[in-house]
Amino acid sequence: MRFPLALTFKIARHIVVNKIRRTPKFAMVLQLEPLHTCNLTCTGCGRIREYSTSLKDMMPLEDCLHASEECKAPMVSICGGEPLIYPKIEELVQGILDQGRIVYICTNGMFMRRKMVDYLSACYNKGWEPKLTELRSENLINDKDLEKIRAGKNDGRPVIGPSRWMYWNVHIDGLEFTHDLIVEREGVFRECVMAIRMAKLLGYQVATNTTVYKETDVEEIEKMFQYFSAMEVDGHTISPGYDYDAAKKDMVKRLGKNPGDFFLTRKMTREKFSRIQEWGRKFTIFGTPVYQEFLEGKRELTCTAWAIPTRNVRGWKAPCYLMTDGHYPTYQEMLEKVNWENYGVVDGVARDPRCENCMVHCGYDPSGALGTNAQPGDTWKNIRYNFGPKPKPYLPGKKVEAFNGVSIGKGHLAQAKSAIRDKADAQEPAAQNNGCCDTEKLSTPSTAKHD
Ligand code: SF4
Ligand code: SF4
Repeated sequence: MRFPLALTFKIARHIVVNKIRRTPKFAMVLQLEPLHTCNLTCTGCGRIREYSTSLKDMMPLEDCLHASEECKAPMVSICGGEPLIYPKIEELVQGILDQGRIVYICTNGMFMRRKMVDYLSACYNKGWEPKLTELRSENLINDKDLEKIRAGKNDGRPVIGPSRWMYWNVHIDGLEFTHDLIVEREGVFRECVMAIRMAKLLGYQVATNTTVYKETDVEEIEKMFQYFSAMEVDGHTISPGYDYDAAKKDMVKRLGKNPGDFFLTRKMTREKFSRIQEWGRKFTIFGTPVYQEFLEGKRELTCTAWAIPTRNVRGWKAPCYLMTDGHYPTYQEMLEKVNWENYGVVDGVARDPRCENCMVHCGYDPSGALGTNAQPGDTWKNIRYNFGPKPKPYLPGKKVEAFNGVSIGKGHLAQAKSAIRDKADAQEPAAQNNGCCDTEKLSTPSTAKHD
């Protein structure tokens, strides 16, 4: 099965129970943002900009656990910011698992190996030695980690261990060059690959999470799926990048870029996703085929942003993960007070101009599962996709040249610096002291990505 049976059953039961009870609106996935602090500054991330005044603020653990209980969503996606920075992330993951929910830890991958070393320290015994040798031989841990693991851990705190109810959901936007460019730091892709490899060796479930932008090369995304499929990653989520307010403002102010050069319109999304169903057959893409048809432009769906609510330090964020028209103290109050009829795109007409280009999964993927624009055969299609066999690992993917950036001396910062040097050389000597030092402008995807 594409998604493990117990997990599929849990989600299906949640939908059926709420349909029988005729609950008009209910949560499917909680996007929990315990903090907005992040160690990266990815291009296109509005989150760390929108909440830039509250980066030090964090939700207390109790509030996080209460939010999960309150909305009753069967799946909780812990995001942020970078959730592994949250000081009580272990207690949070454990607490949500204890509530019987499925947990996704949406991470940029930079601290994953550290958390897995903690896990190994907590459960170390001599029987682990062959596994430690394997991890060391692949340089996934170092001698210091080995020492730490063998010393054991008994501080009484939980650890994040493998569970069939939990996924690491690693943010990957392309192969090495592109990914490092988008996250604006070299070496991040390599760290993600190492973390994923280590997680798979230790028996964790791992998914990747990709945003497609205007500059994204669709062929590269397919190669990325091939590469991670060969690593036996358990699934992939993929969603179009959308020019929501905070991300748009950051583009203009910080990077001097035109959002129109970077984010997708509806028409472009349909072009970029024209092979999503084919990818769904070849790779373990999560979601519903109905949403995939929507992305391909074969049908319309109504936005159901209330089904993937966001809870952050300010409250329940309405109307959706992307746009902010207010924060509410409870999920129920948000459901009641927001006029949901004001949002989304119906028959090609945007009810709110800010929704015009949005086709993101948090607005429309639940629509595919909830049957909001049901057509004959949709239920069967969704069942067949999710209960059908899981696509086999694509072993030729091992040959994909994933390390096509800094690993082969083509780091984007190095390239940007050399572009600055070339530019300075071409100028009059008197003008050189006034030279531009904005490496980011010179390393935009359009100039640096596909050479
Ligand atoms: S890692 Fe995630 S939260 Fe951090 S800047 Fe990138 S997209 Fe934003
Ligand atoms: S269409 Fe829905 S998910 Fe997209 S921006 Fe509008 S309210 Fe948010």
